[in-house]
Amino acid sequence: MRVLYDLVIVGGGAAGLTAALYASRSGLDCIVLDPSSPEGSSIALTEAVENYTGFSDIAGFDLIQHFYSHAKSFGANFVRQSLVGIRKNYDGFILECSDSEVKTKSVILCMGATHKKLGIDGENKFEGRGVSYCAVCDGYFFKDKTVAVIGGGKTAVTEANYLFHICKRGDSYIQLRAPQTALKIVCRPLL
Ligand SMILES: Cc1cc2nc3c(=O)[nH]c(=O)nc-3n(C[C@H](O)[C@H](O)[C@H](O)COP(=O)(O)OP(=O)(O)OC[C@H]3O[C@@H](n4cnc5c(N)ncnc54)[C@H](O)[C@@H]3O)c2cc1C
Repeated sequence: MRVLYDLVIVGGGAAGLTAALYASRSGLDCIVLDPSSPEGSSIALTEAVENYTGFSDIAGFDLIQHFYSHAKSFGANFVRQSLVGIRKNYDGFILECSDSEVKTKSVILCMGATHKKLGIDGENKFEGRGVSYCAVCDGYFFKDKTVAVIGGGKTAVTEANYLFHICKRGDSYIQLRAPQTALKIVCRPLL
């Protein structure tokens, strides 16, 4: 097993590459553990990102390549393996990877997240072509258009509040499974 790393960053997406940039510039002996960085990042799936400062319109795939090159330029090292387990030992952690084990003093876990799907016909087919999961990311694409927000509480109301200022008012609507769970303070601007 290799010497003890200062830091292992698990996940080389937007969060992991940002952590890698700061860690490398700080002189930490660190690696990024990810079998598919940067292409495995969820941002690589989207054709257009309009909310990243400095880029008015950039393909997600290109944006994450910039993140990757930036982190590498300061010496970030990548190990193409998945994390499958973590054990604690006296001076840090032992990370069980797909092909080996790694010792480190500290770990940052940033393996991303997946959207909860509704599971209805057409959802997958129209994802990125009218079906979205993030108002801040995609709301502007629907400027002055009619939208429906489908959800079960506070998150759906928060997203609807955001879209209220962008999308067509009057005939846009929100479908709540359990409206009583939405916080009153969040609901107020909708009324
Ligand atoms: C279709 C779509 C469109 C989007 N559009 C926008 C937008 O326009 N604007 C915006 O701000 N955000 C947008 N987002 C959200 C954005 O992609 C995420 O907020 C961002 O990528 C999250 O970064 P992350 O590093 O947390 O996770 P990710 O970027 O998803 O990275 C997670 C990484 O962890 C790795 N990983 C997972 N499990 C393991 C493991 N066990 N071991 C090692 N590595 C592992 C994966 O390979 C991956 O590379 C969009 C997301 C999607 C899906």
